[in-house]
Amino acid sequence: MTYSHRRQKAVNLLSDLDLDVLILCQPENIRYLCGFTGSDGVLLITPHRLVFLTDSRYTTQSNEEVSADCVIEYKIQADGVAEQLLTLGVTRIGFESGLAFGVVKGFQTKGDPNWLWLHLKDELHTLRLHKSADEISVIGSAAELNLAGLAEIEEMIRPGVREDEVALALEFALRKLGAEEKAFDIIVASGLRGAMPHGLASGKVLKDGELVTIDFGCRLSGYHSDETVTLALGEVSDELRTIFDTVLEAHDRALATVAPGVALCKLDQIARDHIKACGYGDYFGHGLGHGVGLEVHEAPTVSPRSTAIAEEGMVFTIEPGIYLPAVGGVRIEDMVLVTAEGYLTLTKIPKTFRNILLN
Ligand code: ZN
Ligand code: ZN
Repeated sequence: MTYSHRRQKAVNLLSDLDLDVLILCQPENIRYLCGFTGSDGVLLITPHRLVFLTDSRYTTQSNEEVSADCVIEYKIQADGVAEQLLTLGVTRIGFESGLAFGVVKGFQTKGDPNWLWLHLKDELHTLRLHKSADEISVIGSAAELNLAGLAEIEEMIRPGVREDEVALALEFALRKLGAEEKAFDIIVASGLRGAMPHGLASGKVLKDGELVTIDFGCRLSGYHSDETVTLALGEVSDELRTIFDTVLEAHDRALATVAPGVALCKLDQIARDHIKACGYGDYFGHGLGHGVGLEVHEAPTVSPRSTAIAEEGMVFTIEPGIYLPAVGGVRIEDMVLVTAEGYLTLTKIPKTFRNILLN
């Protein structure tokens, strides 16, 4: 893989922000820009130099996988970074919002008191916002694993089995099929627990007449998939069926609107308006979706507060839900790629109503 295009994006960012250097410590940003897959390192980028620093545990690995002008081994991180910053002769320094206060303080204490430190927030989000063909292909493969993984365990999703047994079996199936790791702790929320948007799998036993929401994904070559299905176990009440149909329609309407130039807040609004019109507006508390890539949750955010516009190459989720206390809940989630013509759904599990005991 060539990193020159990505490096150029970072260099452009430096010039847009009028900075001499970027200090990156977030593993996903480091991996994106130089290929390092370990968990501890610092990347310094100037318009002309890309320097990767790490400790002795990662020296061999970095020499093999890192694409940088040089790899430096440090004993004490703050010393190593400050020394390089002095060598690079920089003055205006941008650093990530996720960097711990103590770490930044360490760099500052060891460095030149005249350096100007600029805390970057949303500015860095643009870096990984548009996915390349390679990235899209890996994300698509991670989504294919979701389809195969769920198919493998579908027979066990029956009354009498515990939620955590379903989660474990699904994780095992995904790993066996080639996933590096689950993308996050798998959510299996059945019956009344479905009213908790992030109800992790518990010891609760699935019952006939319930809906079960399974929110899961996996990681492949560092990239994630994220998808939610809500399945019916036997005959469900009219109310549960109504909320399912409402969420599905909200999902379908938002999905069908995805195209370059569409405001992301508009997608949220389309789904939210439908849920409101059906009388469930108070029970959809979260945003419609989020970007997915090297992180499960990354830019862009799809919510009423989103300011971003859909652009070709963006990958994000569409995941409306209704969570009715003491009744149950439904969430339906797909990952979508914005294409030149409109969109492509990357996740492949059908989202239409399915009663897994009857059909
Ligand atoms: Zn999800
Ligand atoms: Zn999600």
